[in-house]
Amino acid sequence: MDLSETPRNKCAACYRQFNRKEHLVEHMRISYHSVHEPICGICGKRSRSFESLREHLIGPLPKAECERVFRERGCDLCLTILSSRNALRVHRDACQLSHGNNGLLYRFANLGIQDDLRIDNTNTRAVALACKMVGGGSDGSLDLCAKVCIIDEYENILFRSYVKPCFPVTHYWYETTGIRPEYLRDAMPLRQVQRKIQDFLCNGEPVWKIRARGGKARILVGHGLDHYLRCLEVEYPASKIRDTANYPPLMKTSKLSNSLKYLTKAYLGYDIQMGMQDPYEECVATMRLYKRMRSQAHRNENYPLASDPQNKNNFASWRQNELERMSPDELLAISRSDFYCWCLDYA
Ligand SMILES: [Zn+2]
Ligand SMILES: [Zn+2]
Ligand SMILES: [Zn+2]
Ligand SMILES: [Zn+2]
Repeated sequence: MDLSETPRNKCAACYRQFNRKEHLVEHMRISYHSVHEPICGICGKRSRSFESLREHLIGPLPKAECERVFRERGCDLCLTILSSRNALRVHRDACQLSHGNNGLLYRFANLGIQDDLRIDNTNTRAVALACKMVGGGSDGSLDLCAKVCIIDEYENILFRSYVKPCFPVTHYWYETTGIRPEYLRDAMPLRQVQRKIQDFLCNGEPVWKIRARGGKARILVGHGLDHYLRCLEVEYPASKIRDTANYPPLMKTSKLSNSLKYLTKAYLGYDIQMGMQDPYEECVATMRLYKRMRSQAHRNENYPLASDPQNKNNFASWRQNELERMSPDELLAISRSDFYCWCLDYA
């Protein structure tokens, strides 16, 4: 871009323009732009989420030039731009996932119960968890966990068990859960499941010591984990939770989540939750989404979060008139993310 044409009051990240510099400064204070935001491979515009990047590229009101290039050699799943049509074809084959062998594995695994969870020192750093609920209460609206599954990063089943709830089950929702009363009669009691999962996640680390990065405690991946953990009565620190329902780049808006069904179709390219649903399928989809987000190549920063103590004063420590003298690029350079980007788990 020709520097002489760059408007002085144009945000270097989202390209919004402001009449006055002070308004751009104000915008930068509250926007938390960073290298971790989804970025358009053509014009370099940063978006809050992949959803808004998708709109920018595909519509309904796309940016014409970016749309043209994207239609030619952009991947509609991960939204990256490839160097040629050919490169796109090769990339697209790898980017598009399917149930593949998991359909088989799922059916096979369904035959047996695997309820022996070990605390170990293997490098199973991230695990995905999902539950299947049955209904309690007169109308079945009380969610009771009846089946739980945990997998590792390679989609191997680590734990899979029916769970005997503490309350009477009134609705089995067989058509979607595939769960029958006799499966739960002698199943592992909730208390026991809770203890096993709690110990497995902490992996010998005292809860108070658990931090976002490092340590022995495991990273817990899932979709809507709050609800699952509440039903399982497991307490786990938020710093170790990677939830595809609450991850800003994957959300519809800042408050509204996307369904896992939608995310799997849009970002991985296949359908889930058709007919009878198994928590294994959900574990696999969330783990794949997590790994995709984690493998994004973002610039390494020493203190990537706005909440890191070292960044506390990034904007506050400057006088307003000093900030107003900075170029849009300089303002962006001192701006930090307000969410924990999963690429940081790679380090
Ligand atoms: Zn902006
Ligand atoms: Zn990142
Ligand atoms: Zn663009
Ligand atoms: Zn792709």
